Amino acid sequence: MTQRLTFTCAKAERAISQDLDGLLDCYDRRALRAHLHLCGACRRLEHTQRAQQSALRELADVSLPSTLWSFDPNAHV
Ligand SMILES: [Zn+2]
Repeated sequence: MTQRLTFTCAKAERAISQDLDGLLDCYDRRALRAHLHLCGACRRLEHTQRAQQSALRELADVSLPSTLWSFDPNAHV
């Protein structure tokens, strides 16, 4: 085991949001998974953040009303 494989809760908390943003390298992701395996509090936090992120993604997927399809903000009328 290397030092990198032991995460504190504070470090895991940061790593969770980095992981959701796709910014975590494979070593840190492995360390995060190991921490989540052992720590229920961080597991719940990860679950909550993941749910929030997918809720936000769904909001972003809401389609525009058809009246706005032809809207061109660069058009000079
Ligand atoms: Zn923890």
